[in-house]
Amino acid sequence: MIFILLGPPGAGKGTYSQKLIDIYKIPQISTGDILRASVKAGTPIGIKAKEYMDKGALVPDEVIIGIVEERIKENDCKNGFLLDGFPRTVAQADALGELFVKNKLNLKGVINIIVDKDVLFKRLTGRRMCKACGAGFNVNTMPPKKDGVCDACGGELFQRNDDKPETIENRLVVYDKQTAPLIDYYKSRKVLKDVNASNGSVDEIVAKIKAALESK
Ligand code: AMP
Repeated sequence: MIFILLGPPGAGKGTYSQKLIDIYKIPQISTGDILRASVKAGTPIGIKAKEYMDKGALVPDEVIIGIVEERIKENDCKNGFLLDGFPRTVAQADALGELFVKNKLNLKGVINIIVDKDVLFKRLTGRRMCKACGAGFNVNTMPPKKDGVCDACGGELFQRNDDKPETIENRLVVYDKQTAPLIDYYKSRKVLKDVNASNGSVDEIVAKIKAALESK
């Protein structure tokens, strides 16, 4: 099973992915997570990417496409994978299409996660991550049991640099300009499935995603 989770920052793609990888026994490929790991490790790609990420801008297509091309060749992707945060531009979607043809892979579907703008802003400003294990929380919608402490490992929670209000606005503008055109791109290829995620629990939304993926 190969599918794409498309949706604005704050739509919950990472949260739903954590459940979907268990359901389908496939890895999540999150270009944001890969880039954050490169920034942390101080690799040349990480150093270059950080400039863009801190501003809420997109990292250049050729960098991201190279990352994904390498990642999908890994052994754990043999039975499929879930793309979270990629593609984000038409050029990336075209490159992905070419990779699918070259590697004889079939795209099952593209889930378009729809969330109201005011809900997005609230989710993004409330988002916190564990420094140690990367688990995600939200002080507004999914708070940890103890303030600032990870439920999973007891690590310290922090706010991503790009989740500060001024950067969030830019990320939402960038989504509208550069990523939202992919909705029509995949609609015209008849693989787009809308899932409304403004309301409902994580499990309810995951169930909707599963039903959409498995519908004809
Ligand atoms: P995310 O965690 O998906 O919100 O990504 C965080 C940041 O990483 C984005 O704001 C971009 O700067 C960068 N990024 C992640 N995925 C991509 C992508 N597919 N294309 C370009 N930049 C990306």
